[in-house]
Amino acid sequence: MTTTAVTRPAAKPDLEEEQASLVQRILVGVFVAVPMLALIAAIPFAWGWGLGWHDVIIALALYWGTGLGVTVGYHRYFTHSSFKAKPGLRVGLAIAGSLAMQGPVITWVSDHRRHHKYSDREGDPHSPWRYGDDAKALTKGLLWAHMVWLFDPNQTSQEKFAPDLLADRKIKVVDDLFGPMVAVTLLLPALIGGLWGMSWHGAITAFFWAGLVRVTLLHHVTWSINSICHTFGNTEFEARDKSRNVSWLAVASFGESWHNLHHADPTCARHGALKGQFDPSARVIWFFEKLGWAYDVRWPDAVRLSTKRPEAATRSLGGWTKQRFAKEQDTAGIRTSDNAVNPADKAAA
Ligand SMILES: [Zn+2]
Ligand SMILES: [Zn+2]
Repeated sequence: MTTTAVTRPAAKPDLEEEQASLVQRILVGVFVAVPMLALIAAIPFAWGWGLGWHDVIIALALYWGTGLGVTVGYHRYFTHSSFKAKPGLRVGLAIAGSLAMQGPVITWVSDHRRHHKYSDREGDPHSPWRYGDDAKALTKGLLWAHMVWLFDPNQTSQEKFAPDLLADRKIKVVDDLFGPMVAVTLLLPALIGGLWGMSWHGAITAFFWAGLVRVTLLHHVTWSINSICHTFGNTEFEARDKSRNVSWLAVASFGESWHNLHHADPTCARHGALKGQFDPSARVIWFFEKLGWAYDVRWPDAVRLSTKRPEAATRSLGGWTKQRFAKEQDTAGIRTSDNAVNPADKAAA
């Protein structure tokens, strides 16, 4: 028995970076800009006969409802326990997340917990750095992280990564009902569109825009967190992986693109922890907390986060940051939104 080990010579570091930068731009275009632009370009042609306000309103409502089901429910609650939820909210979040068609809740959570355990190292189910960091490897890696990993026959062990959810009878029922919920998320827009317009035409256009297009857009946005937010953007916090904060994805991703903070402090309920970072998922958690449906919310902690910021960091922490040990923070010179007026913030405003 013979084994042939092919050791490729390492590429020169400077050359690698230049090539990667060009490839990165092309890939951003391919992954996000081109499909988005194509879709936007189609809108004026379709407007009036194949697309109308009903479709837009139904699509937006379902994009928000199911998207928040993933970000607040699947991710911040089920995966990371960044807050506790009353039983009704717990089941509601599992259902809302399932309607995003990103897989059953226990599968999603298991994969994502494995991602955090091995983040950008061997064992991570979807690291863009899987094949290396030269241009060719990163091209392949970005495609892998964006969507090819979904076709990996290796499945994350649910017994190992999500025993808490497997033991929860209600959550297991929601998990088992994923198939029917896929049907619901695609057919519900058709039903609403048809009844609203009292026509088959209304049902078909709503099915297309608020069903197919809405699901696809949210898929790409979620996948971009795995690909783009582990490759491009800012490192405003110190994480042991290559996670990044990507501001231009914050609105579409409901604040999930503040992914560098998230990896630096995974249980934190607010990912856009710095002042001015838009994070609607955190606002929704705040709203649930006010209603009494959510409790023990792990809001950003100024003391804990101060240990995860680079020495040169100037931007203040945003609202809802825990102000405990306020005196110690002041003496230690830790910045919070209440006490800081620094030039960087003024310039940004
Ligand atoms: Zn990540
Ligand atoms: Zn996470």
